[in-house]
Amino acid sequence: MEVRYKRVLLKLSGEAFAGDRGYGIDPNFLEYITAEIKSLVDEGVQLAVVIGGGNIFRGITGLEIGIDRATGDYMGMLATVINALALQSALERLGGIPTRVLSAIEMRQVAEPYIRRRAIRHLEKGRVVIFAAGTGNPFFSTDTAGALRAAEISAQLFIKATKVDGIYTDDPVKNPQAEFIDEISYLETINRGIRVMDHTALTLCMENKIPILVLNINKPGNLLKAVRGERIGSLIR
Ligand code: UDP
Repeated sequence: MEVRYKRVLLKLSGEAFAGDRGYGIDPNFLEYITAEIKSLVDEGVQLAVVIGGGNIFRGITGLEIGIDRATGDYMGMLATVINALALQSALERLGGIPTRVLSAIEMRQVAEPYIRRRAIRHLEKGRVVIFAAGTGNPFFSTDTAGALRAAEISAQLFIKATKVDGIYTDDPVKNPQAEFIDEISYLETINRGIRVMDHTALTLCMENKIPILVLNINKPGNLLKAVRGERIGSLIR
């Protein structure tokens, strides 16, 4: 079966890395996501991944312990680098997938610096590219970093990986009446206050006409279905 989306950006939250542990990195998740990513690479999909850091540190958490927002945000960005290296290691070791980590904050001993044209070159050569350290700026989120990088590399689809099947009218865990939304516009997502990602990320995708697919990352095969254009998850466009 032909893939519909040849170049895709996948946003993985830090929370996903924690698996059932709530904190840190779950080896079972690394093994699982490696197999899922491999299924895309085997289909010839050019895959870029943006990683969160919430399983280790969030800027907001810093405030609670007396660390100012900008400093906390830098700590959060460093957390994403830790996750990026873990994922790179898993993809290469378990999946045999050549992978490059490109960091928005320079740390040459650890990762390549982010250079847009180099990222594209890696993708063209069939390497998975992991974008670490968010946008490199405090006061942004990794979702926004995902939208930014997706626009920069001309990704055809932004996949927002979550723990639920997609977007609902309310929190499905708390409200059993919540209804599933299979397609919605960017503006409606914003106007209805649906908190799937921050507005900066949403508007960046809207302005660059990048569709966002919100899907359940914990269901095996979902990523492959997504790139084949099968109707799973919720589509924002
Ligand atoms: N962060 C930042 N600028 C960015 C991206 C991330 O300052 O461009 C910081 C921010 O403090 C954030 C933390 O890094 O809380 C971890 O990222 P995020 O919370 O988006 O991760 P996720 O929720 O996806 O695990």
